[in-house]
Amino acid sequence: MIDLKQNVQYVKSVGPTKVALLNNLGIYTLEDLITYFPREYEDRRKQKKISELIDGEEITIEARVVSEINLNRIRKNMTILKTIVEDDTGRCTITWFNQVYMKQHIKRGETYKFFGKVTNKYNHIEMVNPVFDEIGKSKNTGKVMPIYPSTYNLSQTAIRQAIENALSMIDGELQETLPNYLLSEYNLQELETSLKQIHFPTSEENRLKARKRLVFEELLTMQLALLEIKGQTEIEEGIGFDKNVKMSDVINNLPFRLTKAQLRVLEEIDNDMETAKPMNRLLQGDVGSGKTVVAMIAAYKAVKSGYQAAIMAPTAILATQHLEEFKKILEPLGVKCALLLGSTKIKERREILEQLENGTIQVLIGTHALLTENVTFQKLGLVVTDEQHRFGVRQRTAIVAKGNNPDVLVMTATPIPRTLALILYGDLDISIIDELPPNRKKIETYAVTKRMEERVNNFIRKNIDEGRQVYVVCPLVEEKEDVDIEEQKSDLKAVKEWTEKYQKEIFPNYKVNCIYGKMKQKEKDEIMEQFKNGDIDILVSTTVIEVGVNVPNASVMIVENSERFGLAQLHQLRGRVGRGNYQSYCILKYDSHCSQVARERMKIMQETNDGFVIAEKDLELRGTGEFFGTKQHGLPEFKIANLFIDMPMLKSVQSVALKIEEEDRGLKQEKNEKLRKLVDNKLQQSIAL
Ligand code: ADP
Ligand code: MG
Repeated sequence: MIDLKQNVQYVKSVGPTKVALLNNLGIYTLEDLITYFPREYEDRRKQKKISELIDGEEITIEARVVSEINLNRIRKNMTILKTIVEDDTGRCTITWFNQVYMKQHIKRGETYKFFGKVTNKYNHIEMVNPVFDEIGKSKNTGKVMPIYPSTYNLSQTAIRQAIENALSMIDGELQETLPNYLLSEYNLQELETSLKQIHFPTSEENRLKARKRLVFEELLTMQLALLEIKGQTEIEEGIGFDKNVKMSDVINNLPFRLTKAQLRVLEEIDNDMETAKPMNRLLQGDVGSGKTVVAMIAAYKAVKSGYQAAIMAPTAILATQHLEEFKKILEPLGVKCALLLGSTKIKERREILEQLENGTIQVLIGTHALLTENVTFQKLGLVVTDEQHRFGVRQRTAIVAKGNNPDVLVMTATPIPRTLALILYGDLDISIIDELPPNRKKIETYAVTKRMEERVNNFIRKNIDEGRQVYVVCPLVEEKEDVDIEEQKSDLKAVKEWTEKYQKEIFPNYKVNCIYGKMKQKEKDEIMEQFKNGDIDILVSTTVIEVGVNVPNASVMIVENSERFGLAQLHQLRGRVGRGNYQSYCILKYDSHCSQVARERMKIMQETNDGFVIAEKDLELRGTGEFFGTKQHGLPEFKIANLFIDMPMLKSVQSVALKIEEEDRGLKQEKNEKLRKLVDNKLQQSIAL
């Protein structure tokens, strides 16, 4: 059997320079190389006569060389090789730039197959930089060629060659990685054929068969690994909170009645909290569905059971707002809450840290500042992270480590489709608030172009005159360098420009002000305070208000250049209005020259208010990678699976995994030996990360 872990340097055609280039692509071993899957394929099977060639197409021709091969040196670094070829229908010029060596491989009078891009201008037909084969060979033409993802300084030909050589090394030597019973039960092709076919498919059918098998393996491995992680966390001893502490003590003191969904979710959380097993729960609920109060009630339970709670929010604005809401409800019930931000003054910070350590402070709300090393709890029992999509797994782990197996509640408005959530967060339980508080009116959404500007402005006036307030969100000014400092400037610049426009040109009689990311914390707080108190009519901002801000009197959300925002983001922004009893509106201004996809987004926003529908659509429009920002959020990345295309497969694989796990927990049976290996590898990789 071949050793797949051997260094790529042992593959034919891979010298020291190529080793370095392959390493750049994350390819170190033979296995890495053969599982470096093509991004797409180029079909070089289609062949045409010269007279049929169309400008711009990529195609194969079969033609005889009928002229000398002329070499011209244009400049020091530029050579042009030209020759004429013909078939029985016409002539074509072949040109190679900077490929002098071709001269030795092409002979006048011989016939070859050429593949390349055609230009046909005024009946002058030309192919530039084609690849070719002698008749009877099919190295470069007449087949489907793989195209690999970004290869930096490595040419497609070089990587193809390396993979081809690697595949011939494993020929007949490769050990199957899936157990036989799965192969036959799910009609999967064995590994070796699949690997060969995924790189160099002999037909579309074969490629699909290969892909199916490889995707199955990848998803199954992930799924089994997640089940295993979940199984382990279940064994750990955590906190069993006091059964005599009743959540209803808070619920009955609220200024509103909880929705059925909130009550159901709280019951799930209550159950988790009372059992000694550490809670690990994802709370999903659309914007405005009332997640904060759920966190608050859970915190109450923890505190009255003798523990402390930490609430971590992604922005200072949000944390500040949470503190206010928590204080309003919990302080009358004798719970001491405090706020810790990056900007908290040294003296105050020292006091807070002291009271945290001696247990006086029972609920600590804050930003990333909570993760700081010297933040020590006396007895941390519950960790809540709000708007989880802003935090990485690592940050979650860091705050959890401040307690002794505390219960964890992760809240998110990012509407991950349920199936996907179950699969991606396989190590979490999920609660969903699928209902908005009563009397919420549907936010009416309109997408408008510049032509409508005057009407929009009148509409804003009308709303302000009725006592409402307005958000205006503008995108960052587009700047090339993504240096931090530049970003700060453009954040400021964009907001200043828009604020000026709104205040001076359009609404001189109203109070316009702005808030932006890099503003000093104190200023931000002041502005938010003024907006809450109704001292500002129109608040211009960048997306700093995206998450969580709650000002029920604001009823109009204007998004400038909305074509530059993603769907999930637009939905979040829209969620800032419609929080009170007033009919609310979201106006998406867009550039009439925007892309088709951007138009599609506008359309979806107008059609639905349902975050889950929007998420599904977003997946369709963008694919998962971008939507979740997998890299940032520590979600699994795949070599071949694509969570959008492969959703049906994902569902069936999930049930396969559950069945296997149920039958053979820990994968100890002999028939699952191979799965055990796959999962061990996977777990090792994720630990290495
Ligand atoms: P999100 O889920 O987006 O974090 P919030 O927790 O900020 O939503 O709640 C949005 C608003 O709805 C807040 O003003 C909150 O007080 C209010 N709210 C929450 N639950 C209810 C309810 N059951 N009935 C009425 N209002 C509620
Ligand atoms: Mg919230």
